[in-house]
Amino acid sequence: MERSKVLIIGGGSAGLYLASMLNPLKHHITIVEGQKTLGRKFLVAGKGGFNLSHSIALKEMVLKYEPSGFIKPFIRKHPASSLIIYFKNLGIDTYTGSSGKIFPVRGVKPVEVLNAIKKRLSDNRVNVLTNTRWISTHQTSITATDGTNDSNIPYDVIVYALGGASWKKTGSDGGWLGAFRQMGLETSAFKASNCGIEISWSDHFCETWHGAPVKNITMTCNGNIQQGEIVITRSGMEGPPVYASNGCLRKQGNDMKLVINLIPSISSGKINSFRSALKSSKSMNSILKNKLRLSKVKMALVKELIDKDAYQNRQSIEETLKSCPIKVTGFRPIDEAISTIGGLELNEVDENLMLKKLPGQYVIGEMLNWDAPTGGYLLQACYSMAASLADHLNDNSG
Ligand SMILES: Cc1cc2nc3c(=O)[nH]c(=O)nc-3n(C[C@H](O)[C@H](O)[C@H](O)COP(=O)(O)OP(=O)(O)OC[C@H]3O[C@@H](n4cnc5c(N)ncnc54)[C@H](O)[C@@H]3O)c2cc1C
Repeated sequence: MERSKVLIIGGGSAGLYLASMLNPLKHHITIVEGQKTLGRKFLVAGKGGFNLSHSIALKEMVLKYEPSGFIKPFIRKHPASSLIIYFKNLGIDTYTGSSGKIFPVRGVKPVEVLNAIKKRLSDNRVNVLTNTRWISTHQTSITATDGTNDSNIPYDVIVYALGGASWKKTGSDGGWLGAFRQMGLETSAFKASNCGIEISWSDHFCETWHGAPVKNITMTCNGNIQQGEIVITRSGMEGPPVYASNGCLRKQGNDMKLVINLIPSISSGKINSFRSALKSSKSMNSILKNKLRLSKVKMALVKELIDKDAYQNRQSIEETLKSCPIKVTGFRPIDEAISTIGGLELNEVDENLMLKKLPGQYVIGEMLNWDAPTGGYLLQACYSMAASLADHLNDNSG
């Protein structure tokens, strides 16, 4: 039986997952990657938290995606349990942290995870063309370039896995958007998602506290409450609660506001002793420090966010600590975002992720216009789409 020539364009997370799951007896698999090496954003993700997925219940997991109806069938077919088995079969054990996020076991470096996938590619005789940038697609071949010379590469099936448009240095520059428009496909401009926010800190606060984690807070935007840890940056804040508030902030237009609760899970013992101390002559600094055990950065943050009178007001300070107002002046640039929305519109693909207008050509990963928070949901979606497409191509060839 003649093997079908499958070209996977883009050797990032989704493309690598797919190439490692296609049946080499049925397909002659080639990855076409613009960068000198594979999986650069996968490695960047590894330097951060490297959440491969999340252990949240399936029915809650699908609600994390926007629109959830699009991702649902892929996640249902290949949920987190399938991803865990996939990595186990590659020799990478995983564990679930206290937050529910799924990571490679401690001590396993991101490059070792990437190498395990690459080893599978080599076992599957996947042909890897690096430094080869896709330019255009024709009837039976694509045109690619190494920067100097163009070449034509034949295909039977094409899978685009070209990624979004943040962290351009990893190769995910969104440069494919114009070419897709020319192919008659509906696209929308990229926007940052899971992105830091900008806040006008005073110079003193910024210099003293940039880089400091603020643990155990909740952040509320239009009634949506996010719990977790944030980090003070020179330009504002970042961290999962911030990223999860991105969408809601955008809807507020030019007047973006958040509320932060610095004491979301304070014990009743502590709060009672705090309330009693407020009736004493002790200073506010001493009460917050000794009775609430507020960390130094939280003390500095509350002073930065409210005026002196509000800080000294013993009637309202408890409420103030639970609802410090934050004026958000903007978002960090798209290139710093963890992911992007925009790209190829979802109505362009069918239930097998095939382009309806271009049969035999498929699209997976972040280049499609869906959104999800950080915490493993992005890589899980890439995996689930890749695994579902691998099933489809493995079942329907020959
Ligand atoms: C700092 C950071 C931390 C992250 N941490 C996590 C995390 O912990 N958990 C999580 O779930 N997600 C995380 N993510 C997100 C996750 O890495 C991405 O969602 C995921 O990599 C998207 O996979 P993809 O294959 O769609 O795109 P990419 O991984 O971006 O791959 C696209 C590939 O296509 C190549 N390409 C682009 N254009 C061309 C062309 N014309 N020709 C040939 N090749 C081309 C690119 O070079 C790239 O290799 C993180 C992202 C960042 C930036």
